Amino acid sequence: MIGAGIAGLTAAALLARAGLKVELLEAHHQSGGCAGTFRRGPYTFDVGATQVAGLEPGGIHDRLLRQLGVEPPAATPLDPGCVVDLADGSAPIPLWRDPSQWQAERQRQFPGSERFWSLCGAIHQANWGFAGRDPVLPPRNLWDLGQLIQALRPANLASGMLVKASIADLLGLSGCGTDPRLRRFLDLQLRLYSQEPAKRTAALYGASVLAMAQEPLGLWHLEGSMQTLSTALEQGLKLAGGTLRLRHRVERLRPTPGGGWELGGKGPGGQPFRLDCAELVCTLPPQALPALLGDALPAGYRRRLEGFEDPSGALVLYAAVARDALPKGCPAHLQLDWGDPGSLFVSVSREGDGRAPAGEATVIASVFTPARPWFEGDAPAYQAAKQAALTGIQSGLHNLLGLEPLHYHHAELATPRGFAHWTARPFGFVGGLGQSPSRFGPFGLASRTPLPGFWLCGDSIYPGEGTAGVSLSALMVSRQLLAGRGMGLGVA
Ligand SMILES: Cc1cc2nc3c(=O)[nH]c(=O)nc-3n(C[C@H](O)[C@H](O)[C@H](O)COP(=O)(O)OP(=O)(O)OC[C@H]3O[C@@H](n4cnc5c(N)ncnc54)[C@H](O)[C@@H]3O)c2cc1C
Repeated sequence: MIGAGIAGLTAAALLARAGLKVELLEAHHQSGGCAGTFRRGPYTFDVGATQVAGLEPGGIHDRLLRQLGVEPPAATPLDPGCVVDLADGSAPIPLWRDPSQWQAERQRQFPGSERFWSLCGAIHQANWGFAGRDPVLPPRNLWDLGQLIQALRPANLASGMLVKASIADLLGLSGCGTDPRLRRFLDLQLRLYSQEPAKRTAALYGASVLAMAQEPLGLWHLEGSMQTLSTALEQGLKLAGGTLRLRHRVERLRPTPGGGWELGGKGPGGQPFRLDCAELVCTLPPQALPALLGDALPAGYRRRLEGFEDPSGALVLYAAVARDALPKGCPAHLQLDWGDPGSLFVSVSREGDGRAPAGEATVIASVFTPARPWFEGDAPAYQAAKQAALTGIQSGLHNLLGLEPLHYHHAELATPRGFAHWTARPFGFVGGLGQSPSRFGPFGLASRTPLPGFWLCGDSIYPGEGTAGVSLSALMVSRQLLAGRGMGLGVA
């Protein structure tokens, strides 16, 4: 297996628990990938993911960790899950955890929009039941198709009629297409999870995303740091007898004459390594495959991969401030509609949560950005663009939280170059392929590739990005791989 982010750790642990001999190779010196953590002096920063879905009883992380015999990491529910500031002088919008409180809030914030929310709610109910019955999407053989069909119910066939619709279409259908404030709110929220605004987010995906902050689901804040999720999965892998090899960067993949795969690359100290395996699960973005596979990549599949639009990159400010510089009762997660360099998603640590010393807080502000331009131009142009982005983000934080330059005890900005270095993702791409109606679910990239014994999972595979999403993709690919050997999860 390649890549010890949440997808790779989850799939490796599940496959090892089912009785397979599993080796997980990770380029970095620690696991976690986009959901990892780094330290700067007294501060602990979550690299990418800062809030987690799927930790409620029976949620995907809770369910899989317990199956692996590991206690889920300590976490507290977020209430509100986020507070959205449209920066137009109107009242910010808290996404309350309690469904009735959220209903009252949205009725106050977006009068006359209840038909839209009811429609989303009905679609989400159908989706959620479907996702819980472990479908395979998109299907590539009869077994996959069987798994898809057994997960379908009449409600899915009804909502399936909306498979090509966007969230903006749902707004139109429910007569709410003319509320600009609701549209801006939806654009902001959906971009976080689908990389796309309402008019380009698949209705079937967006309806569930919009229900994610409320019970019985909900968003969670991990105590200590995001790394505790990876640590729990590492424990699960170890308990199941699997091996994690850190500092092993895979640089070359080739099919072997015996029908397996040969992996080559650099291990600790730059020492070359070579490894053979019967089957290979790769959690890297598909944009990494042409370089890894070279001529072994079939021409048609290469064209398909190269035809995908670029995913986003991210600019992330990792900062620390005195807690009393923040507004009283500052929420843990906020969103700000901001022009330059773009809308901000902001995460503020809580007192005693392990991220900053007493009396201080970490503040992480992220913005999506086109990735490739950050790799063009000379060093002075890059530094100037970086400084401009930092200034733009800090001015957004001034607007949102009242932070002044003198309040920062620490401030550093990561660009797509930093993400490319940290996650080894081409151009530092984050967030998968986007969730437009033409890329979502049945129209997405399959975990079963045309290369025998070569599997994909992670945030480019159904159901998409987020630690919960990639865990579902890991579960799906593990079931597929095991089924090919006549095995099931947990059966040695
Ligand atoms: C700024 C930002 C904010 C986010 N916020 C949230 C959030 O709040 N909540 C949420 O749920 N999700 C969030 N996400 C998304 C979430 O972090 C990702 O979708 C998820 O963590 C991806 O996991 P993965 O295992 O698929 O990929 P990755 O995390 O990228 O893991 C892949 C691993 O493969 C390794 N690797 C790469 N190349 C090689 C190679 N050649 N050889 C060996 N190893 C290799 C990498 O080092 C990495 O560890 C955010 C992402 C970003 C970037």
